[in-house]
Amino acid sequence: MSYEAFQSEPLPFDENIVVKGWEKRTVEKETYKRFHELTTKDYERFWEAVASELEWFKRWDHVVVPGAYPNVYKWFAGSLQNISHLCLDRHVRTWRRNKVAIIWEGEPLDEQGVPKEVRKLTYYDMWRLTNRIAEGLSRIGVRRGERVAIYMPMVPELPAVMFACARLGATFTVVFSGFTSENLAMRMRDLGARFLVTADGFYRRGKVVRLKEVADSACQLYDGIEKVVVYRRLRDEVPMKEGRDVFLDELISQVPVNAYVEPERMTIDEPLYVLYTSGTTGKPKGIIHDHHAYSVILHATMKWVFDLRDEDVYYCTADIGWVTGHSYVAFGPLMEGATIVMYEGAPDFPGPDRWWSIVERYGVTILYTTPTAVRMLMRFGEEPVRKHDLSSLRLIHSVGEPINPSAWRWLFEVVGNKRCPVGSTWWQTETGGILISHAPGLMLVPLKPGTNGPPLPGIEVEVVDETGNPLPPGAKGLLVVKKPWPGMLGPPTGMWGDPEGYRRVYWSRFPDVYYTGDYAIKDQDGYIWVAGRADEVLKVAGHRIGTFELESALVANPAVAEAAVVGLPDPIKGEVPLAFVTLKVGHVPSEQVKNQLLNWVRERFGPVVAPKDVLFVRGLPKTRSGKIMRRLLRAVVMGAPLGDVTTLEDEATVDEVKTAYEELKQYLKT
Ligand code: ATP
Ligand code: MG
Repeated sequence: MSYEAFQSEPLPFDENIVVKGWEKRTVEKETYKRFHELTTKDYERFWEAVASELEWFKRWDHVVVPGAYPNVYKWFAGSLQNISHLCLDRHVRTWRRNKVAIIWEGEPLDEQGVPKEVRKLTYYDMWRLTNRIAEGLSRIGVRRGERVAIYMPMVPELPAVMFACARLGATFTVVFSGFTSENLAMRMRDLGARFLVTADGFYRRGKVVRLKEVADSACQLYDGIEKVVVYRRLRDEVPMKEGRDVFLDELISQVPVNAYVEPERMTIDEPLYVLYTSGTTGKPKGIIHDHHAYSVILHATMKWVFDLRDEDVYYCTADIGWVTGHSYVAFGPLMEGATIVMYEGAPDFPGPDRWWSIVERYGVTILYTTPTAVRMLMRFGEEPVRKHDLSSLRLIHSVGEPINPSAWRWLFEVVGNKRCPVGSTWWQTETGGILISHAPGLMLVPLKPGTNGPPLPGIEVEVVDETGNPLPPGAKGLLVVKKPWPGMLGPPTGMWGDPEGYRRVYWSRFPDVYYTGDYAIKDQDGYIWVAGRADEVLKVAGHRIGTFELESALVANPAVAEAAVVGLPDPIKGEVPLAFVTLKVGHVPSEQVKNQLLNWVRERFGPVVAPKDVLFVRGLPKTRSGKIMRRLLRAVVMGAPLGDVTTLEDEATVDEVKTAYEELKQYLKT
């Protein structure tokens, strides 16, 4: 059987779903295509028009010009901007002053199952809080151009500290609160931070996490931190170092209630933040974003992709420690004046319906989540979802990994009750905002389960072969972005302190186009199907197959919760797939289930590329941002060194995979 004959099997290229209630917004694919062509033809004018919708201290002299280093583009050169102004000041001048900006829910519940702590902060509250924090930080020496590390849990003070740094013109890096002291120290060192803002701790899955202790050990590994500011979430005793550490509440209690810190007028060469990528493929990269072009992509995508309106209650489940939380919890929605939900704890605590109870409690209308979380929650069946009234939802998107058609259908049918457009928004830390997605806020094209959809207006992407030539529809290749876009890695160096790394990683593979590192298919309608990372394609007896396609087929089986496939070297076929699988609640691993799964994949892909074996594990190694680390599975299988494992969610999963694989090797020998 030829590769072409089976490649489209699990990916429903030809499905066209029109969503109930969205008929008026739905357009023919051709209509969108024609509109899209107009926006990319003169993309500079197009983005200029979008940027004109925002307020600026000073408008740009040029829309986009080359920067000091090759391929570092300067968007909106000559402009002056401050994102803190866009997120707060501009709203408190309008009726939104008293609108709720953040609904925050702590993790602990009382005996009745009611959250013990809920806080609601208006735009005015957030503006006041941010100004007081900014004044407090400036009194301990935080200035324009200074670098600040932020290591905090999901509390409203976290975005307030980010906005305060932005206001002062300091460059910050947020480090995910689940990271170890080594992770934190590495990032602080790379950034050259002199200040650290952290917290005493927080609640996670019913336990207390003592963050300050981790922060203290990080300061032993990196001695460049001069001042540590500690937000009191737990209000327990914490060790404080005389002269270095200060509580945030004490710092701001010395500041007048009506403190006002004027936002610095930032140029495009002054970074807003540096964020390190997830580290799925290797060492995390320090990506720079600015106040200017970054705001433009966020403004555009909040409108187009999320169709955000003033009456919405918007809930993005990501932690602010990831780029999704930067762009689509903190900056994007607040720039647009939204009411957002922020939740402190774990999605499955105390039960797998916690998120659904949050949706019900606050009448969430827009939900943004990840496929890994969805697959994890799917394990528990439909009952936890069905017991809550989710009728307020009107739009759902996912991000972070390809979404399997079956997980898509679950979101669409079970969670969204077929009334909500469900999308899979493709983007990266490097892109600042979403680049490929349905745009229901503009016009909705028919949906296909699992696709990312057509590229957004102003964004031109292509799927190319190894030599950079565009591939015909249906063929699998490498995803590139053909024109610069606002929100791309910012000046001055793209990657923090490493202009050469920037050029090498993104611009050396093909001249003049941005290389994403992902592989994808473009279908006959121009929809993009990102199917994983370029280094995760297997070559089995001459057939090229993405690990994601096999995983998707496995996850479509009713017994399977999660699957990860890696290639095993094979003397005859070159490579053969090997599958690691976790089962849904109520299913137990057995020889019979294994054979069923092998047959299931054979039926769908033919015998050539079917996995050599299926190994059952209780968990798969994932990054803290919820991505399966196939590179670790591959290292286990190859007996190679594991490489960087610092961003791993649960180190026990690696041992489990190792054990399963050792057992397999024993078995193969006998
Ligand atoms: P590193 O670059 O350090 O290896 P990472 O690529 O996992 O880490 P992120 O920037 O958080 O770090 O993730 C971006 C990547 O996530 C994309 O390049 C793509 O592989 C994947 N991705 C994100 N959203 C989607 C989506 N909707 N569909 C398919 N893949 C996605
Ligand atoms: Mg990446």
